[in-house]
Amino acid sequence: MESSNGHTDSGDTSVWDVLIIGGGPAGLAAALYAARAMRKTLVLEKVMPGGQIATTSEVEDYPGILMTTGPELSMQLMEHAQHFGAQVEIGEQVTKVKLDGKVKKVKTESGRTFSTRSVILATGAEPRTLGVPGEDKLRGYGVSYCAVCDGPFFRDRPVAVVGGGDAAFDEALYLTKYASTVYLIHRRDEFRAQKVLVDRARANDKMQFILDTVVDSISGDKAVTGAMLRNLKTGETRELPLGGLFVYIGNIPSTNLLEQYVEIDDSGYIEVDATMATGCPGVYVAGDVRKSPLKQIVTAGSDGSIAALSADKYLDYLAEELSPEEAERLAEAPENWEESY
Ligand SMILES: Cc1cc2nc3c(=O)[nH]c(=O)nc-3n(C[C@H](O)[C@H](O)[C@H](O)COP(=O)(O)OP(=O)(O)OC[C@H]3O[C@@H](n4cnc5c(N)ncnc54)[C@H](O)[C@@H]3O)c2cc1C
Repeated sequence: MESSNGHTDSGDTSVWDVLIIGGGPAGLAAALYAARAMRKTLVLEKVMPGGQIATTSEVEDYPGILMTTGPELSMQLMEHAQHFGAQVEIGEQVTKVKLDGKVKKVKTESGRTFSTRSVILATGAEPRTLGVPGEDKLRGYGVSYCAVCDGPFFRDRPVAVVGGGDAAFDEALYLTKYASTVYLIHRRDEFRAQKVLVDRARANDKMQFILDTVVDSISGDKAVTGAMLRNLKTGETRELPLGGLFVYIGNIPSTNLLEQYVEIDDSGYIEVDATMATGCPGVYVAGDVRKSPLKQIVTAGSDGSIAALSADKYLDYLAEELSPEEAERLAEAPENWEESY
């Protein structure tokens, strides 16, 4: 059968040592470490290498690199992993997994099935968006979902943060270091955020609260110049001049593939131990999809490297138990494995 990306196999019968789902910073760092440890390594990425940073204009907080662009760093991360022998397949969205047993199965939307001894899930998270006019067009040009990443670009300019939870307050306070004014725009007049954060924000001269209000659209041609606001109680609308707008209305971690295998916390993130192990033998999780205090390129890379090391140790252990012949036989096991899921 020919798949949408030109591959002609409906089933790849070779057994990978480490199969990584997601080609963002966590997945590509894991690939680099796994391949460098001489493991047969495959990355399946549904869209493009780099994940969330692929569309980020400037990155200036990755240690050792003073300034780069998201697309450039994305390509470097992929090429680095490939340099050590990792295979990276772009345009392959994983739709189904069977993770129990010594040889695991992974199926993609294009109809291909892969067999692997270990899996690293590095599917990241997607910021919840406002879904208003101007947001998509100005993403990376003043619309941001990451104050730690982009705050320093807004020195002495007015910015707004949309949201009322801990993340919105944390990031708004962080932005007061740089911006001239930080407007916190929230649809209600009370907050989900912890009282200590709210008190700290209220005590900060640079913070201004705009409550009972939503953003109807974001203005700007090449960069954000303002936002059209609507008061939900009075219906009054007005344009607020801004240099940047930060959206903190939650993230959607991409955990759906693993939901039946691992523990998911109340916010939807996967909980793992310090080795990135999930409790499901041979299955590891890295990057923004896991519960962690900071979600950045450097932490995603760190997670990926730890997950690869853990997979490497697991493979050593497995080698004592599983002969190459038995692995091949298990890899060819029933084509209809996914029907039982
Ligand atoms: C606008 C923006 C700017 C940022 N700027 C910075 C910055 O300057 N510095 C910094 O340190 N951090 C920055 N961050 C945060 C940083 O990008 C993330 O912390 C980091 O990308 C997380 O890496 P990850 O690999 O865990 O996940 P992601 O980057 O989310 O990558 C996950 C990948 O998995 C793929 N995937 C998901 N599901 C599947 C599937 N089923 N099959 C195959 N592939 C799948 C996705 O397509 C994606 O490519 C920024 C984030 C945003 C949104």
